[in-house]
Amino acid sequence: MDIWIKECTRQATCQFCGKPIPKHTPMIVGKMWPKRQPEQPEHSSHRRIFAKMMYWHTCNDEGIHCWEMQGIMAMKSRPKKVSKRSRPRLEITPEDRKLRYQILNRRSTICQRIRNELERTDDIPTDFARIARYGEHLEELRIQIEPLGGVPKNWSHSEK
Ligand SMILES: [Zn+2]
Repeated sequence: MDIWIKECTRQATCQFCGKPIPKHTPMIVGKMWPKRQPEQPEHSSHRRIFAKMMYWHTCNDEGIHCWEMQGIMAMKSRPKKVSKRSRPRLEITPEDRKLRYQILNRRSTICQRIRNELERTDDIPTDFARIARYGEHLEELRIQIEPLGGVPKNWSHSEK
């Protein structure tokens, strides 16, 4: 949605409080473009776009900052989305991302093998030399993943 502020030049109704926005007062304008349908190519002559226009008081006659209020309410209604968005996405190339996932998968396989080795239910004793080798392998993965977006925070040494 495009958002801007301008002077109200003709009668508009506030999206938030439902009251008219007086002429010659500042108002917030929102322009929501509809999502393009997949079957409509971008430069199709048949394509018609109807943008939805929305208006808000900057401050109504009761002192309510309508645009700000609707924004805060919208934000509170989707706490999960907000927290997801605040998590920074790793700035790495798709190729590196692929390698990163391969390393993550390899690590979870090794961790599973270590668990299996530690929690043997058969009569074969735990092979600590093998666990040590797995530990070395995990250390290698730490080194490999470092240039591919860094070592994940949950890769604690204690997990080895
Ligand atoms: Zn309002």
